[in-house]
Amino acid sequence: MNQPFDRVFNFSAGPCTLPVEVLEEAKEDLLNYKGVGMSVMEMSHRSKPFEAILAQAEADLRKLLGVPNNYKVLFLQGGASLQFSMAPLCFLGAGQSADYVVTGAWGEKAYEAANLVGATNLAYDGKGINYNDVPKFDTIPLNPNAAYVHFTSNETIHGVQFHSDPTTEAPLICDMSSDIISRPVDVSKYAMIYAGAQKNMGPAGVTVVIIRDDLLEKVPAKMHPILDYRLHAKNGSMYNTPPCWSIYMCGLVYKYILRHGGVAGAQERNLWKSKLIYQTIDGAPEFFKGHAVHHARSTMNVTFTLPNDELTAAFLKEAEATHLDGLKGHRSVGGIRASIYNAFPLDGCQALAKFMWEFATKHA
Ligand code: PMP
Repeated sequence: MNQPFDRVFNFSAGPCTLPVEVLEEAKEDLLNYKGVGMSVMEMSHRSKPFEAILAQAEADLRKLLGVPNNYKVLFLQGGASLQFSMAPLCFLGAGQSADYVVTGAWGEKAYEAANLVGATNLAYDGKGINYNDVPKFDTIPLNPNAAYVHFTSNETIHGVQFHSDPTTEAPLICDMSSDIISRPVDVSKYAMIYAGAQKNMGPAGVTVVIIRDDLLEKVPAKMHPILDYRLHAKNGSMYNTPPCWSIYMCGLVYKYILRHGGVAGAQERNLWKSKLIYQTIDGAPEFFKGHAVHHARSTMNVTFTLPNDELTAAFLKEAEATHLDGLKGHRSVGGIRASIYNAFPLDGCQALAKFMWEFATKHA
């Protein structure tokens, strides 16, 4: 099946495919944004049109996720990776310890960064099982007095996902980079949520931070300004020049999701899409092996392996020839990774499932 304008089906893990509707809108605005006479890329971040873009993006994200009033929504730079350091620098004080629940490579990176800052407790570590599962949160021995508990709701490389919001006594911090706005979440369970934009929200360059007011108050008085959540909140994400274009694009994506049934609509589509591929994996168990155990399977990143490296290489080559692009798995898992975020079309999943059947039949 052809995509418009000969676009390929882009299974990249991020940056990744964006809705064609959104790209069309951006194209329309590119030379002259709503009659202002310039593009969003050329506008002062202090100008009225950009202030309106930022305010609308924040309002729409609040609406999508039902963000309560006692939370600030920030648009920052430095990627989710900066949050790995910024969170402990701001919230892991002397004499405190933070709990880390590590279910994949990204959680591990966050844990390593926190270790440079202060005391941590590796409350759960899935490394021994090559991160193919997620634990039930209520079975993890957490410290109720921890400065915070950190976890990754969806591990992009390993393709494992928590499918419900945990309840914890200590403040809960979640890296939601690869599944934010893909399903409803109860924001009130979290002290802080952060997510890089380049999977479900827009292009790379902006990181969303949703942070509860009481956590903000815990930032030490002397903090480097650029690393100080309080300062970013006080300045409405305009302490320094924000990534204007990326924020504008996120705003268009938020409107797109709102037009298409909100996060509940996105979840329904994501369940269907991922089911198509998982069913194909399960239908040829001698040929395809899913990496994640069933209950931890991600709706965003479907990871699986083939019987050997030669078949994997042939699969990738033939897939690319049929416009199924970006399917190579991360080296730590090997095999195939199909990243099928919100904007990835259903017919792309159908095309992959069909290709998988044909490939398995031919090579079994
Ligand atoms: N967390 C997760 C879950 C990710 O998938 C990624 C990027 N793939 C990151 C953090 C790091 O994001 P960035 O490259 O924007 O720093």
